[in-house]
Amino acid sequence: MKCVTLLSNAQIEVQEKPIPSFKEDECLVKIAYAGICSSDIPRAFMHKAYFYPLVMGHELSGTVVEIGSDVQNFNINDKVTLFPLLPCNTCSQCVLNQYQRCSSYQYYGSRCDGGYAEYLAVKKWNLLKLPAAISLKDAALFEPSAVVVNALRKIVFTNKKVLVIGAGFMSRILLDLFKDNPKEVFIADRNVDKLTSMPKNVQEIHIGDQENIDKFLKNYRDYFDVVFELTGSKEIVPLTIQVAGANSKIILVGNVSGDVNIPEKLFSSILRKELSIKGTWNSTFYHSPSDDWHTVMEHMKNTFFPSKHVSHYINLEDVPVFLEKIHKRREFPLSPTYVKGLIKIDYNT
Ligand SMILES: [Zn+2]
Ligand SMILES: [Zn+2]
Repeated sequence: MKCVTLLSNAQIEVQEKPIPSFKEDECLVKIAYAGICSSDIPRAFMHKAYFYPLVMGHELSGTVVEIGSDVQNFNINDKVTLFPLLPCNTCSQCVLNQYQRCSSYQYYGSRCDGGYAEYLAVKKWNLLKLPAAISLKDAALFEPSAVVVNALRKIVFTNKKVLVIGAGFMSRILLDLFKDNPKEVFIADRNVDKLTSMPKNVQEIHIGDQENIDKFLKNYRDYFDVVFELTGSKEIVPLTIQVAGANSKIILVGNVSGDVNIPEKLFSSILRKELSIKGTWNSTFYHSPSDDWHTVMEHMKNTFFPSKHVSHYINLEDVPVFLEKIHKRREFPLSPTYVKGLIKIDYNT
């Protein structure tokens, strides 16, 4: 089979490998689509991989083609997606079904091989069978959607002034999944080109340079009831504290890159404003209608189609060049300028 292998930092190659064998508690899944996650860029180019060689890819959908002898609830040709985290099942959080907080886990596409490949052997525990109403394109985006659902659970929006910082794919699905009825919604980004085709009721704020930021702060210091931080930028995190109003909540979603420096006076304002700062990590998956993945499934059966926000469809063979382009932020010929790639794994070429 074909797969894309990270051989060492910044060395990515399309390879030919044997189709993986599968254990009695696994299904062999023929991958249909794989989402390119922004976390794959530091993994591939900034020494963030746990080991080499690694096949990345954790946002996946596909079809069951082989079934292990200890698998009961799946059939050949079932359409599936998969929760990529393989928990230890023994730590304090695993026993509470909070597997996303497991202290010692494996992960398809980062801590073990993933789905930038034609086939992947997947534990039955991790598989989620798809109803016919959900397309394989949307199904590959269960993972980022579930991360958003987990973040949205932290807050009630009714009558709140909400700021979302970062205007990429995750923010777009976050706006799609806003539950109750916020009073005002703003979205901010440093890249003005990303602030395109937002929903009508969302006000766009450009924070590209210090002048923009000063202007923003002049009007909106201590203003918002809820601030979502999705960029993970060390410069942006302090800004969330400045624009958060008294008794407000800051939800940290973006995985931070670099050390965040919070000056004394700003830190003190966390206390004075009695802010709540809440981290959110990954998503819940415990085979119940109340977990994040089943919540996403209900949304996808209705009006939630995250694949509409995909900016680029590419073939498996093009992944090395495409990742390099994202890393170097080369101009992309297509709009919008934020990048959410979906790899179509094509078996006939
Ligand atoms: Zn991801
Ligand atoms: Zn655990």
